[in-house]
Amino acid sequence: MAAKLQAPRGTFDVLPADGRRRAALARASDELLGRAGYEPFESPVFEDTEVFARGVGEATDIVRKEMFSFEDKAGRSLTLRPEGTAGACRAYVEHGMHKLPQPVKLRYWGPFFRHEAPQAGRYRQFTQIGAEALGSDDPSLDAEIVLLLVELLEAVGARDLRVRLSSLGTPETREAYLLELGAYLREHESELSEDVRGRLDSNPLRAFDADHAGTRAVMEGAPRLLDRLGADDAEHFAGVRALLDDSGLSYEVDTTLVRGLDYYTRTVFEVESGALGAQNALGGGGRYDRLVERLGGPDTPGVGFAAGVERILLATEAEAEPGAGGVFVAVSEPGAARSAFALARQLRERGVRVQLEQAGRSLKGQLKQADRIGARATVIVGGQIEVKDMGTGQQMQAAGPEEALALVESTLES
Ligand code: AMP
Repeated sequence: MAAKLQAPRGTFDVLPADGRRRAALARASDELLGRAGYEPFESPVFEDTEVFARGVGEATDIVRKEMFSFEDKAGRSLTLRPEGTAGACRAYVEHGMHKLPQPVKLRYWGPFFRHEAPQAGRYRQFTQIGAEALGSDDPSLDAEIVLLLVELLEAVGARDLRVRLSSLGTPETREAYLLELGAYLREHESELSEDVRGRLDSNPLRAFDADHAGTRAVMEGAPRLLDRLGADDAEHFAGVRALLDDSGLSYEVDTTLVRGLDYYTRTVFEVESGALGAQNALGGGGRYDRLVERLGGPDTPGVGFAAGVERILLATEAEAEPGAGGVFVAVSEPGAARSAFALARQLRERGVRVQLEQAGRSLKGQLKQADRIGARATVIVGGQIEVKDMGTGQQMQAAGPEEALALVESTLES
């Protein structure tokens, strides 16, 4: 026998029970985001590596360690997309979307790839739902993006949500702040973890993320970016907060919130679920007012979120397996197979869910199968056609296919 093969490490198959839950989540997000004007958008699953190197940032973990990059036959470096915002901004520039009425609102659903150590809720191929609003820095867009993510998570029943919010200011404020933070960290260098020390120059903000006890103690006394915001940024953040407060959302301002991507300016946020373990972030996002420019476009503000589909479903109670319901079409003699096939198609055309015998079972086996799928009615096609109400057990004879259709419909309605 040939050796069995397995899906690659960190990937998974979606089997039908899960597939139904994912389809329901996709419908809920389409509905919710569509209502707020976010239009369907797709970009390629791989891009020029440059899109992410420039977009996400050379110093980030994603770009340094987690990208699936490869060369095409012409020697160009391509990368399986690790996130969706850089590709959306690349497309905004490529298609001159700045000429459209602003903001341009996009939504997407699709696979993303990061070479991480797999664990519960962390995969090498995972699925994100995302939304991006490009071309306006109005604080109402920041508030809308946060609220849409929370509303989506609530609508699908994700449990025990916690929202953290902060502002990172503009690149200039951040630069001055990073110098200040760097100087502070250097004063305390000997107390920091090796990892943090290694990145003092490239990414000192990550020190706030550290688990290392010594580093944490140092960070307690570290200067906070939120206290250094320029007047415009502070006002913008106040505007976002006012709208969120009006909406009744409960959230926590967390001055240590840093996200794993370099492009954020001003608003950043993350939504976690207490129902999950170590990988508890369901989604997050923020404003990225310089990203389009970094990718060669005009100065264009933007804000968005991305949420992990697999984690959302982990944080959501699985619903009871829905029975297929509908109708089962059984065949009581071989000569009736064609009539049964035609009848099944006619019922499906009328919008009825229909399964028919397609595995060579005996009539007894077929009736058992009808039970198994939870059919409301079974049609038995042979020399004549009978319709059985699976609820009452009542069996009715039909004069022909037309009458059988009518009997099925009245059974389903009863
Ligand atoms: P990020 O932009 O990195 O914050 O990712 C947004 C969301 O995508 C996270 O909150 C997770 O829900 C999900 N996500 C990110 N990386 C992974 C992964 N490796 N496996 C599963 N989900 C992920």
